[in-house]
Amino acid sequence: MSPDPDVTPVALELRNVVKAYPGTPPVRALDGVSMVVHPGEMAAVVGPSGSGKSTMLHIMGTLDRPTEGTVLIDGVDTAELDDKQLSALRGRKIGFVFQRFFLLAGTTAVENVANGLLYSGIDPSIRRELAVEALRRVGLEQRLRHVPAMMSGGERQRVAIARALVHSPAFILADEPTGNLDSKSSAAVMDLLRGLHEEGSTLLVITHDDRIAGSLPRQVRVLDGRIEQDSAVVSLS
Ligand code: ADP
Ligand code: MG
Repeated sequence: MSPDPDVTPVALELRNVVKAYPGTPPVRALDGVSMVVHPGEMAAVVGPSGSGKSTMLHIMGTLDRPTEGTVLIDGVDTAELDDKQLSALRGRKIGFVFQRFFLLAGTTAVENVANGLLYSGIDPSIRRELAVEALRRVGLEQRLRHVPAMMSGGERQRVAIARALVHSPAFILADEPTGNLDSKSSAAVMDLLRGLHEEGSTLLVITHDDRIAGSLPRQVRVLDGRIEQDSAVVSLS
C-alpha cells in the first residue's frame, strides 16, 4: 500500500515554485515546480544542462528564495523565516554535497567534517568525535589526518559527504556529486550514497547522467524549469 500523503511526514516540499532571474526577457529557471520528498526517500533530479537543476537545489537548500511559491522544510514554511533563522535551519536540517567538494585546503579531514558543526553549539571535543564517526561511516577512518591535497578526488568527495551528514540533517542535497570523478570513484561514491539511503538517510541527487538516475529508487525529470515526469507520481493524463 502506498503511504497516505496526508499523514506521512514530509522532509521537503515545493509548491508551485517559480524562480525568475532578471533580464530581457527574464529567465524562468523554475516555472511552477511542485514535489514532495518523504523521510527516507532517495531521488534523482535528472535533466540536461540548463534545465534548472542547480536552481532547484539552491531553492530546496534555502540558499536562494523563490520568486513565487512555497518551500517547506520538515514542515516549516521557509517564507516565514528571516535570513538568520533560515541559515540556522540550513545548518541543522540540510547537508550539501557539491561537484567541486569545497573542502578547506591545508585542513585535515576530521577538521573539515567537524567544521560542519561549527554553528551547532556542540562542544569542540564532541564535534571531533562526531566527525570521526561520520568519516568512519564513509569508510575514511584511515584518512582522519589527511589534508585534501593528500587524498584522491573520490576520497575528497567522501569527506564532503561526511561533512554533509555529520549533523544528521533532514535531507542531503547533492549537486552532480560524481561530476569531477573518474568512473571507478564515481561508482564508489554512488554506492556510498545508496548505502546511506539504506541506513535511512533522505537524499536528493542532481545529475545529468541517465545511468546514475536510473540506479536510484525515484527519478524526477526536469526540462526547461518544469517537472516533466516524476516516477513517484502517477500520471493522470
Ligand atoms: P542546470 O543546473 O540544470 O544546468 P541551472 O539551474 O544552472 O540549470 O540554470 C537554469 C537556467 O537559469 C539556465 O537558463 C541558466 O542560464 C539560468 N540561470 C541560472 N542561474 C542564473 C543567474 N544567477 N542569473 C541568470 N540566469 C541564471
Ligand atoms: Mg547545474
